[in-house]
This record gives sequence, C-alpha cells and structure tokens, in this order.
Amino acid sequence: MARAGQVALVAFLLLLGAAPLTLGEFHVTLLNYIGLYSLVALGLVLLTGVGGLTSFGQAAFVGLGAYTTAFLTTAELPAALDGLGGSPWLALLVGLALTALVSAVLGWLTLRLSGHYLPLGTIAWGISLYFLFGSVDFLGGHTGITGIPVLEVFGFGLKDPRHYYYLIWLMLLGAIWLTRNLLDSREGRAIRALKGGTVMAEAMGVNTARSKVVIFVVAALFACVSGWLYAHLQRFVNPTPFGLHIGIEYLFMAVIGGAAHVWGAVVGASVITILKQWLQDLLPQIFGASGNFEVIVFGVMMILVLQRAREGLWPLLIRWLPQPAEGTPPVPIAAALPRRAVPAAGQVLLEVRDVVKKFGGLVANDRMNLQVAAGEILALIGPNGAGKSTMFNCISGVDGPTSGEIRFLGQRIDGLASRDIARRGMSRTFQHVRLLPTMSVLENVAIGAHLRGKGGVGAAGLHLERAEEARLLAEAARQIEHVGLAAQMFEQAGSLALGQQRIVEIARALAADPSLLLLDEPAAGLRFLEKQALADLLRRLKGEGIGILLVEHDMDFVMGLADRVVVMEFGEKIAEGLPEAVQSDPAVLDAYLGGVD
Ligand code: ADP
Ligand code: MG
Repeated sequence: MARAGQVALVAFLLLLGAAPLTLGEFHVTLLNYIGLYSLVALGLVLLTGVGGLTSFGQAAFVGLGAYTTAFLTTAELPAALDGLGGSPWLALLVGLALTALVSAVLGWLTLRLSGHYLPLGTIAWGISLYFLFGSVDFLGGHTGITGIPVLEVFGFGLKDPRHYYYLIWLMLLGAIWLTRNLLDSREGRAIRALKGGTVMAEAMGVNTARSKVVIFVVAALFACVSGWLYAHLQRFVNPTPFGLHIGIEYLFMAVIGGAAHVWGAVVGASVITILKQWLQDLLPQIFGASGNFEVIVFGVMMILVLQRAREGLWPLLIRWLPQPAEGTPPVPIAAALPRRAVPAAGQVLLEVRDVVKKFGGLVANDRMNLQVAAGEILALIGPNGAGKSTMFNCISGVDGPTSGEIRFLGQRIDGLASRDIARRGMSRTFQHVRLLPTMSVLENVAIGAHLRGKGGVGAAGLHLERAEEARLLAEAARQIEHVGLAAQMFEQAGSLALGQQRIVEIARALAADPSLLLLDEPAAGLRFLEKQALADLLRRLKGEGIGILLVEHDMDFVMGLADRVVVMEFGEKIAEGLPEAVQSDPAVLDAYLGGVD
C-alpha cells in the first residue's frame, strides 16, 4: 500500500482507539453494533462484491453463532457433552466448526445453482434456519435464551459496552486483515477471477466450485463470530435479529458501502446503522405515527445508490483521502519456478481423431482429425462459422466432443474438465478476450501460473506463502517481458488496446509453462508491426520446443509462420498440408473466395 494510504489508516486506527474514551455509552454501543454488522458485511464483500455470489441468508449464520454459544453457556448439558459447557471461548470454537460444516454443505448444494436460483436458494435456507431457531424447544422458541454470561478475556470480565468495543473492533480489524491478505494471493486471484465467468478460470486450472465454497464458508464464519459477540454483548438471544429481512439489510450494507472493497463493509454498516437510528427517531415525528418507515427510505436509498454509484460509497470516499504518490512499483524478481519436462522435438503432443461436435441438429465439427507435434506450429483456418473455435473448446475441455477421441501426450483427455487438461500442460487464449479488466496486467498473467503454486486459503489469509507468491509474480513478470509488454505491467488490463489484451492472454497462457499452446485468433486487431512481433514471438516459442495450435483468419499471417495448415469449412476438414500447397488448393480457394476461375 502506498504511503498516503498508510497515514490515513493509522489516523483511523488512532481515532478508533480513542473513541470510547470520549464518547458516551449510547454512542459506544452504536459503534459496537457497527462493528458487529461490519463483520457480516465484510463476508458479503468477499462473497458478493468480489466473488459475484449474492446471498440473502447471512443473518442465519449470525444466528448459528449466537445460538450455539447461548445454548452451550446456559444449558444443563447431558453428561456426554459436559466438557463443552460453560466456556464462551470453547462455544466459539464449536460454533465455528458447526458453521463451517453447515455452510460447506449448504454452499455445496446452492452454489451450483446459477442466475437467480442462487439468491432464491439463499433465501430458502435463510428462512429455514430462522424458523428452526424459533421452533426448537431447547433453544427457547420465540422467547429465546436468557442469562448468557459475559465474556472473559484472560480472567478480565467484559461488563461494560466499552470493554466489548475493543474486542469487537479488534476482531473486525483482524478479519479485514485476513480478507485483504487472502485477496492478495494466488487463492485470492482465483476468487477474483470468478466474476469474469468460470470458463477462463477453469482453463487456468482453478477449481471454481471449490473457490465458491471457500468464500461462502469464510463469509459464514465471519457472520458466526459476529453472532457470538452479539450474544455475549446482549446476554440474551431470540430469533428476531436472524431473520430474512436482516439478511437483506446486511446485503444493503455491503452494496451501499462498496461491495468490492473491504473498507466498504465498514462504510456501509456505519451509514445504514446511523441512518436507521436517526430515521427511527425522526420519521415517526414527521409522519406522526410509529411504523417501520425507515424500511421505505432504505428502499429508495438503495435504488439511488444503484443508479448513481454502482460501486458504492467507498470509491467516492477514497477520492477525499490523500492519494498515493505516482510511480511504478518495482518489477517482482524471485527464483524461477520449476518447469515441466520439455517433450522431444517432433513428439506428437495432440491427436484429434474423428471428433464430432453437435449443437442440437447443427454439426459444428464433423469427423475432424489433426495432430500437433512439439516444436511445430499448426494453423487451423477456415471461414467464419467453420467450427474452429468449437474444435478449440473440444480440445481444451470447455465443452467436450459428442464423439471421437482426443489424446494429449498419449493419454485420452476428451471428457476431462478443462482444469485437469490444463494441469497436463495445455494452455489457451480466447477469441473473445477474457481478462479481468480492473486487475493489473501482472495479476492477470499471474492467474495463468495458478497451478504452479500450492499456497492454500489458510496460508494466504496469514500471508505465510509470501515466498511462493513472489515466485509466481516474478514468473508473471518474466512472461510479460517475454511477450514485450513490460511497459504495461502495472496498468489495468482493461485500459490496454484490444491487440495488446490478446498478447496479455498469451503471456497468461505461457505462465502455465505449457507444452502445447492453443491460440484463438491472436492476430485479430493487431497492427502490421504488432503482427510481426507476434510472429517473432511464436517462432521463438516454437524454437523452445512448444507446440502451437493457431486458429487464424488472416491468411498472410499464417502463411509465413505455420509449418502445416488444416483448413475447415462447415465443420469438416477440406484440406491439410504445407502452407503453399494449401494456398493453391481449389477447394480452399473456393471456401475462402467463393470460387475462382
Ligand atoms: P469459427 O470459430 O470457425 O468461426 P465456431 O466454432 O465459433 O466457428 O462456430 C461453428 C458453428 O457452431 C457456427 O454455426 C456456430 O453458430 C455454432 N456454434 C458455436 N458454438 C455454439 C453453441 N454453444 N451452441 C450452438 N451453436 C454453436
Ligand atoms: Mg472462432
């Protein structure tokens, strides 16, 4: 982080530390609630803002944390469970374990639902857990549980809201630190890649289903901690604060604060909590009657924010903070990552045999056959709609063939998931560029090196994987220099010209250390000199022993570059051979030019 940002952070922390010394009890309590809500909203920043998964059900996880500790610290437990009773800190561990289990199972079931089914699924389990709290006898039904003990920290009883204040905010700051660390890591890049659709992430070897469950569980754990703190602060619980409408309010907080930024959670929770307090006092005076008028005001506010500031309030706020000094960060340097064995020149890497791909009645690939060897560039050409991209998707596992066989390094790969194919050493680019526009070129390329690191979520959260992370970033930097984009390394990928973005995709594919590279129309949108530079790069890669399968439209580009050419039309192979021979093949001329004399 830049110097100015650090100054702002330190100032904020000092203010935070001094607040209870000067504020009255009412305001300290308000800040306590803001802290508790921020913790839940922080989970939603990770889940919704970063991961793009909407959940209305977070309040239920708050309830799980609250009820677990309420029950364990107050109930007469049966002898078998006796060891678990009494201690709030032990109850926290039990609550976290329970929440992890429940959220992992719920996540596994609901996160596979796409589109509007996912939010609906979260509403369903949010309601179910809420009614569970209210109807189970040993949880006190709708009256709830009273007599929850105060927390003790090293023998010191937290009897005052001021005491809780420091615990709540320390835990929140800890959670913010963990979240920031997680996002700034290999796992974090995988999580941030979820929003760009799963196809790209999977092609880079990310298990996207697992990443989704991970952020779902982390968000639920934050909510659980919030519920645990809440129960001991209030010293009683009932189902009301864990209902669906509160779940919606948490989502409000994350969205209004700025769902893609960790501090957005704190801003959102503050704004909503203070506004709610204020409106609850003010509105009944205006309308001369009591009622939940603030809900209506919130609804209007939500619409306004979505209209005027889609990214929430945090990006607006940060403009008022001291800005980081200009200047490029240093290029990451570290020891090179281990590489896979380079196949012998001429060894067959890829073999496509009689592959058929049908979309309903349309035969997009009809008994296609082709081979690519190490150190060879094979160009796959043909008019628009011939089926080239479909062939690519079959090979790379995005969408498996209807029938036929595909072998990579001698082994069948048709039917494998694209991340498993990537793991074997095949990497690709996309015809329609799939970069994460707001991430830097460096971070985008580092996603390509995903499978070359091992650092897990826990290590990332605690930043214990910095040595490996440095090597991954250094590898990304090396590939960026390799393709000639060193000057753009720290720019946002979305700000580059389309042609350059294609080159970034090549760097990302190379960061995986592939034996076979699949490039879908890499020269589209490039200027003449850029095309020449690209051709030079591909020749160099070929010289290093990589096999390249190149889909291209531009005949001239292919002719000077490819060792062999396969021509497709209407899903079928109509010609194959050396570039010069193919170029004068009547069938090819016919396909491209609609017939010549
Ligand atoms: P190319 O890359 O050679 O331009 P494509 O492989 O993209 O061609 O498309 C080949 C044919 O398959 C086209 O007629 C296209 O409309 C059709 N097609 C491609 N993808 C799908 C899909 N997911 N569903 C249905 N039809 C598709
Ligand atoms: Mg295509």
